[in-house]
Amino acid sequence: MNILTNPWAAVFFVGFVVYTATRAVYARPTRGLEKAHRQVDALEKGLLLLVIPSGLLLPLLYLFTPLLNFANYRQLSFVAPIGAAVMLAAIWLFWRSHADLGLNWSATLEVRKDHRLVTDGVYRRIRHPMYASIILFSAAQAMLLPNWLAGFSALVPFTILYLIRTPREEQMMCNFFGDEYRAYMQRTGRLLPPLW
Ligand code: SAH
Repeated sequence: MNILTNPWAAVFFVGFVVYTATRAVYARPTRGLEKAHRQVDALEKGLLLLVIPSGLLLPLLYLFTPLLNFANYRQLSFVAPIGAAVMLAAIWLFWRSHADLGLNWSATLEVRKDHRLVTDGVYRRIRHPMYASIILFSAAQAMLLPNWLAGFSALVPFTILYLIRTPREEQMMCNFFGDEYRAYMQRTGRLLPPLW
């Protein structure tokens, strides 16, 4: 089992558990809240199907079974410690974006009945801190798991989801919040703060 033979894989597993637990804690109070709009069409379902099974299953197969060992590769020794640092940053940003978004969070494209546009905390300079965090975590996974399948099983599908979903999400937010969201877009960047 790679989790026993590769200490960085064990570090990844601890981060993975913390990340998943953070999501579970913040998702719980949002269950059953009334929705004003739900945009879960075939494309949105397809994107979730692309991301969730591979992102969750392949790392666990790598950690706890020998099934993916044919895709293992040797990694330069400085990569995994950088991955651990990136993972810590990702966990912090995930926690902060969930804390700031609060009950306005949803796993899919939805607007709640009492939805409030959040523009403070980690949302002050960037519009998608949670997606930024997931990209960072996925990059950390690629650096901590030296396996072509498990390492990249979140980064590749999530990048596709991000590229397709983000314009749709921003359009939905414009439809609901109008000029307030358009003004917010003017003063923020998607994943990085604007340079000016
Ligand atoms: N894209 C954001 C939020 C991801 S959760 C991020 O990466 O941080 C997805 C849901 O969050 C969307 O369905 C939308 O309803 C909600 N949302 C996105 N940006 C928001 C904001 N600034 N304020 C309130 N809700 C927001």
